Amino acid sequence: MKMRILPLLVCSGALAITATVQGQGNSQTEYLDAQKEPPMLGIHWARGFQPNARAAEEAKDAKAALGTRRSPNMTNHGGVIMPQANTTAIFWGTSWGSYSGDKITGIDSWYQGFSNSNYAKTSDEYTGTNGQVGPVVNHSGHLIDTSASSGGGSTSTILSEVCKVIKNNPDPSGNGYYAVYTDTPRGNAGYCAWHSAGTCSNGVRLQFAYFFKLDGDAGCDPQDTTTGHSQGLAAIANVSGHELSEARTDPASPGAWYDSQGAENGDKCAWTFNVPSVTFSNGTVWKIQGEWSNAAYTAGTGYPNNSGQKGCVDGH
Ligand SMILES: [Zn+2]
Repeated sequence: MKMRILPLLVCSGALAITATVQGQGNSQTEYLDAQKEPPMLGIHWARGFQPNARAAEEAKDAKAALGTRRSPNMTNHGGVIMPQANTTAIFWGTSWGSYSGDKITGIDSWYQGFSNSNYAKTSDEYTGTNGQVGPVVNHSGHLIDTSASSGGGSTSTILSEVCKVIKNNPDPSGNGYYAVYTDTPRGNAGYCAWHSAGTCSNGVRLQFAYFFKLDGDAGCDPQDTTTGHSQGLAAIANVSGHELSEARTDPASPGAWYDSQGAENGDKCAWTFNVPSVTFSNGTVWKIQGEWSNAAYTAGTGYPNNSGQKGCVDGH
């Protein structure tokens, strides 16, 4: 998801600005200038939360007026992609210091197994100004920060957290992706997670993502009954697939791949599961949503998303 929904979540004062630049291709930059805060992209909405309903209605009206059928495929907006991702998980919050469940080890094995998996390869058809998305993930494990975590309402707060935690060892490649798993419950927020990009004060540009604690959270639960993972791990693993796939194909500003509604490859297949579990390259199994493939939609080989469009693939 892109700019249209941001005012609801971040600041109502941005409404006029984002409304005027919507659809002009440079809205992220506009937003950044106006807000001094990295754009919140790739928001993984909770089940049943549909902030884009109005946008969809407008699109339907426009389509009817034109008498033509708009393709649901994503288009390239001219930015970079991530040729590979160098991932680090950051577990942020006081409770991680004494945590003994399966999330930390599970998330590390998730990223290790994502690398070169058929699931990762669902995003590899997309190209950018710096090459093509590739399936390699170099996972450097996790860091734990036991200071008190925050909610996801401010991208700059999360960027500051990432920069603080990695200050002695930043990834200078621009392909660093830092996934921040907090112990803060979602509460009334309409989303489960999001991704963004930013630059630390030392000049290192990086990708980062935010995840609420999703234990017992029906709105963000993939309802995994087969893999044996705890519900909380299953939930953050599913949204991790959504966010990492979006970061690889549309790593924030300048944007690369999203559709006419601003939906990225994870958004377009959110909450649609083709099979009970997908096997990663290290043999671990996960209940995980598919990702949108223009190629699969065009060839008619994908499975349907929540709008019935057959462009979702999970590589199983
Ligand atoms: Zn998303």
